[in-house]
Amino acid sequence: MYAGPASTRQTVVLDPTADSKAAPTAKFVVTYVGFSTAAKAAFQRAVNTWAQTLTTNVPITVKATWEPLGTGILGSAGPSYGWNCSGLMCIDAIANKKAGKNLDPSPDIVARFSSNFSNWWFGTGPAPKGKYDFQSVVTHELGHGVGFLGLGSITGGLGSVQLSGLNTAYDRATRLGPTSTSALLWKMPNNSTTLAKALTSNNVYFDSAKVRAANGAKSAKLYAPSIWRQGSSYSHLDEAIFPAGNKNSLMTYAIGDGETIRTPGPVAVAILKSIGW
Ligand SMILES: [Zn+2]
Repeated sequence: MYAGPASTRQTVVLDPTADSKAAPTAKFVVTYVGFSTAAKAAFQRAVNTWAQTLTTNVPITVKATWEPLGTGILGSAGPSYGWNCSGLMCIDAIANKKAGKNLDPSPDIVARFSSNFSNWWFGTGPAPKGKYDFQSVVTHELGHGVGFLGLGSITGGLGSVQLSGLNTAYDRATRLGPTSTSALLWKMPNNSTTLAKALTSNNVYFDSAKVRAANGAKSAKLYAPSIWRQGSSYSHLDEAIFPAGNKNSLMTYAIGDGETIRTPGPVAVAILKSIGW
């Protein structure tokens, strides 16, 4: 997740206690490396949100490291491995859930947060202007760790939405256009200019019955700018459709200073439920 321009963002708190009364339906076990007490507490609050959102009988293990990251990068996270789940690539936590047991001893989610960034906000109240809300960033990154990501890539002008010959369930639900008859990206030729054009079309949507039920009968627009941005393009919601202040803005690619969004929102939850949760 990137630090966004301050001028485009507003301070907003979206129902921050909405999940506080729900019982956890998943257990997270976090190993912290280099975290301060305040950072740990904020991280744990983000974990609690996901523990009340996802359901699994297998504890989800996370390794969270406090370390220097590139300029403007606040954090990054992803699953340790992709598994072949009946012909689809699925992430560790979903593979474990399906198997009913922990398949591999390494952490299910590996997350990194910037130690060379000086404007973090660790408080429980909304982040003030000039500060970036750590809990919001962790909630976002854990969203990727539990599967909010596709396998889109462009190399040498050729696009792909697969790895080792497999798509994820996410990739199977993306379309070039908003309608239920718009072309599915995964059916386009692998390593093609056609697929590269689609991935940079600003016209990619995640379509499933659950997403339409959560999004006013519409598919959800994904971030697909005209210049491919590895790590940001395709694996986030569209910034213009889900701007700061929108209840679905957690899974956009950037967060502004003074922006506080600590719940995934119905569209991201619907996407996750569409891919195996
Ligand atoms: Zn992200």
